[in-house]
Amino acid sequence: AVVSIDGERVPPERAVVSVFDRGFLYGDSVYEVLRTYGGRAFEGEEHLSRLARSAERIGLALPWPRERLSAEVARVVAASRPAGPDEEPPAPDAAPWNVGERTVRLVVTRGSGELGLDPALAADPKVILLALPLQAPPLAAYRQGVGAVIVGETAVGRPREPSAKTGAHLAHVLALRQARAAGAHEALTVDRDGFVTEGASSNVFLVQGGAVTTPPLDAGLLPGVTRAVVLALAREAGLTVREARPRPEALAGADELFLTSTAREILPVTRLGDRPVGSGAPGEVTRLLHRRFRARADAFARG
Ligand code: PLP
Repeated sequence: AVVSIDGERVPPERAVVSVFDRGFLYGDSVYEVLRTYGGRAFEGEEHLSRLARSAERIGLALPWPRERLSAEVARVVAASRPAGPDEEPPAPDAAPWNVGERTVRLVVTRGSGELGLDPALAADPKVILLALPLQAPPLAAYRQGVGAVIVGETAVGRPREPSAKTGAHLAHVLALRQARAAGAHEALTVDRDGFVTEGASSNVFLVQGGAVTTPPLDAGLLPGVTRAVVLALAREAGLTVREARPRPEALAGADELFLTSTAREILPVTRLGDRPVGSGAPGEVTRLLHRRFRARADAFARG
C-alpha cells in the first residue's frame, strides 16, 4: 500500500492516526473510494465533487483545494504502480480488466482536539490517502451473479447521513454482517416506510419487462458515481429508465437485479434470500449494460 498523510508519504507500518482523532472517535470524517483503469482514476471529478458535497453537508472545511486533492490522488496511484516485489500476484480468478488496477481511499477527518462532540473543538483536519491493489469480485461473480439479502433498517439502525459519504458507517457494517451470516454478498436495506434504498456499499437496480428502475436520490441513499454512469448508459441504450422506490416484493418479482459500485461496476444479483431472481442467471439487460460499461471503462483506460 502507498499511504499519504497530510501530503507526506508514510510507510504503511508507520501510518497511524491519533486516538484523539474525531474520525476514530465519532466517525467524524468524509471519504471517497476511487478506482483506476489503465492507472487513471475513473470519474475522478465526480468523486471529488461528492467529497465536497459530503464535507459541506457535515460542515467540514476541506483543508485542501480540489486541484491539490486531485494531484495527490494521481501521485499515490503513480507511486503504487507498477506492482512492487512485495505485492501479492493477482488472484487467478480475477476479472482480467481489474488486474494491476488500484483503489484509492481518500479520507478527510475533522481532526483532533479536546474530547467532546462539539465540532468546534477540532483543530487540525487530516487528509489521508491510501492506494491499494483493487479488490473486486472474481470473474465468476459476473458470470453467475451473487446473492443478496434484504435487511430492515429497524434491525441495524439508520445510516446517519445517507446522502453524505461519512465515516459513520455502522448501520451498513451491521447490515453486511447479516448478509455474510446468510452467505450473501450484499445486504439491501429497507427503510422505515418499507422501501428498498440501496446496498451496504452499492446502489441497486431492478429490471422488469425491459425497463430499468432504481430508487431516487431523495430516497435517502448515497448518490453513487457508478449509479449515475449506469443511468446515462441505460438512457443511451434507449431503455426505459425510472427512478422510483421499490418494495422488497418488487425486487423478489423482478426479471433481473444488479448492484453498482466503483469496484464492482455492474454486478448481477441472481439470488435474493433463498430464492432465485428471474431465471437465476444474469439477465440480458444487466449483461448489455455491463458490456456498455466495460466499453466506456476500456476507452477511458486507453486515454
Ligand atoms: N451506497 C453506499 C452506501 C456506498 O457506500 C457506496 C460506495 O461504497 C455506493 C452506494 C456506491 O457508490 P459508488 O458507485 O460511487 O462507488
